[in-house]
Amino acid sequence: MHQFLEEAKALEAEIIANRRYLHEHPECGFDLENTCRFVMEKLTEYGYEPKMICRSGIAATVGRPGKTIMLRADMDALPMEEETDLPFRSKEKRAHTCGHDTHTAMLLGAAKILKQHEAELNGTVKLMFQPDEEGTSPTGISGGDVMLEAGVLENPKVDAVMSLHIMSGSYPSGSINIRKGPMMSSSDTFEITVQGSGTHGSQPNLGVDPINVAVHIYEGLQNLIARELAPEEQACLTVGSFQSGDAANIIPDEAKITGTIRTTHENTRTAFKDRIREISEHCAAGFRAKADVKFMHGIPSVYNDPKLTEELIAYTEDMMEYPCEILEYPMSGSDDLSVISQNAPTAYFMLGSGTAEEGYLYPHHNPHILFNEEVFYKGTAMYVNAAIEWLKNH
Ligand SMILES: [Zn+2]
Ligand SMILES: [Zn+2]
Repeated sequence: MHQFLEEAKALEAEIIANRRYLHEHPECGFDLENTCRFVMEKLTEYGYEPKMICRSGIAATVGRPGKTIMLRADMDALPMEEETDLPFRSKEKRAHTCGHDTHTAMLLGAAKILKQHEAELNGTVKLMFQPDEEGTSPTGISGGDVMLEAGVLENPKVDAVMSLHIMSGSYPSGSINIRKGPMMSSSDTFEITVQGSGTHGSQPNLGVDPINVAVHIYEGLQNLIARELAPEEQACLTVGSFQSGDAANIIPDEAKITGTIRTTHENTRTAFKDRIREISEHCAAGFRAKADVKFMHGIPSVYNDPKLTEELIAYTEDMMEYPCEILEYPMSGSDDLSVISQNAPTAYFMLGSGTAEEGYLYPHHNPHILFNEEVFYKGTAMYVNAAIEWLKNH
């Protein structure tokens, strides 16, 4: 077994215990007081001088001046109730159903090992523990944005970023998935308010029916995917709510549509946002109504720097002694590591933690989701190995 796998395996009980503690005490968004206290205490115990660089955002470094590689984990849970039988299940209305508790525990494990190897580090390793990956905070500004603004990529300047996400439900335990280039989708929420003019249901000619107009806008938006997306590209547009009216015989004043767009190229993302506005406004004007289009705060797509990704895949395969799987297409999910990935060369890995056949039946954000604890030490070793090997070669 590779040295770092062995060292991480020796730490397995501690990684699992840390994860179980975090799992039982989930916190959401930027309200991570207890989680941050726990992470700060552990880092201090391991010999670090961790800093809170923004609300619930922690950075720490180990090594010596030289190039810097940053390892990132997210710490936030989701505002939902857990429905597992785990002895350490959450008893709150918050739950770690995306596995960010495992990320924090795996990176803490890596922190401990890296500190023990400090003398051998050919540069600096920066650790980033971030809040609000899920964007549950009402501010509409995600944790990645806030940490970027707080300067997480500066002092020392970050030259490369590595992170991983655990994946339960469809990826075999211990499997590693990644791809070069676009890795995950962007995510933007839009809201279209159609202003018509209310009237009696028996006399539609006396008003402007916003429901009719909104239906045409809905139809128009679907053409972005059908007619304006290159066949080889991947994107998704979903209208998830359509609200208007209260009674069968009243034409209302207003209709409201909200939806989400996911793209894997930043230029498509920008183009689609422009086109949603154009189609809505012009369609409404054509039917004598007005449309007001708003975009809530969105996040870009995760981009895996091809050169860095290829390099880290090679180090990972050397250590694991089995190949990483190369995803054919970007994943349709999104992750706010995207914000960092658009500002520094990044490689984002997916670490499998069980399929349905293995007994891990549920997808992420499901109240029943379970994670295979036997893969955690592998995640820890991946962090350590990527950092040490990359620094050795840069
Ligand atoms: Zn999630
Ligand atoms: Zn997640």
